[in-house]
Amino acid sequence: MSAARQLELAFAFEDAPRWEPSLLESALAREAGRPLRLVLTDNRSVLLSVKRETGSLLLRLHRMFLHAPEAVVDALGRNIRRRGRAADGEVRRFMNANLHRVRKTPRETPRLVTNGRVFDLSAVYADINGRFFGGRLRVPITWGRGVGRARRGGLTFGSYDPVLSLIRIHPVLDRPGVPRFFLESVVHHEMLHHHMGGVPDRAGRTVYHTRAFREAEARFPRHREALAWEKENLPDLLRASQALDRERRAARAAARATTR
Ligand SMILES: [Zn+2]
Repeated sequence: MSAARQLELAFAFEDAPRWEPSLLESALAREAGRPLRLVLTDNRSVLLSVKRETGSLLLRLHRMFLHAPEAVVDALGRNIRRRGRAADGEVRRFMNANLHRVRKTPRETPRLVTNGRVFDLSAVYADINGRFFGGRLRVPITWGRGVGRARRGGLTFGSYDPVLSLIRIHPVLDRPGVPRFFLESVVHHEMLHHHMGGVPDRAGRTVYHTRAFREAEARFPRHREALAWEKENLPDLLRASQALDRERRAARAAARATTR
């Protein structure tokens, strides 16, 4: 084999995972001294979580742990056995040293859509940027598709993606009954996420809604009014978002039918 070819292979294998998922699971169960189910994730904010299930543990780990040295895996198992913080000591150091595996997930910014039926998001954004951020923020914003955002009977009206550095606003807010100040409060909240970033806590999670964040959020003059409006109108908004879901499914089905 030529030297060049050897070098190429060395690079290709340099970053190969150390573990087969099933072997990682059994190594962890052995160290933890109890049955355990391992789920690997690409979650960017929760790198590690342990949940007790009947008779076993559910351990969710970011894929970076496939690259973990044996000592780190042993330490994680031991932390679990001692019922201490799973992400302490060596485990925490490993996570910090491997954050590049989280941040480098290659994804593309979707096509940005700011023109809505009722609201022009770029105008709302420019307005908030001028009033609260001295016009200095540079962050792309788009109407989202409104998928996968419903939770706990509520709706997530906006989201900030720190990897793409992108704000998405739920399309359910692009309706005549929605007051502009409410949309503004959501855009303001997401712009603050871009502006303030996250703070890692001891469990390895990134915390975004810190006290400082809540204080900054409350500087939006109609913040309380926005919260009250949300509370009062949530049932309507949920119904509207379900209607959007149905429209989207119907449109997809129609698209499939015509391509057949
Ligand atoms: Zn938030």
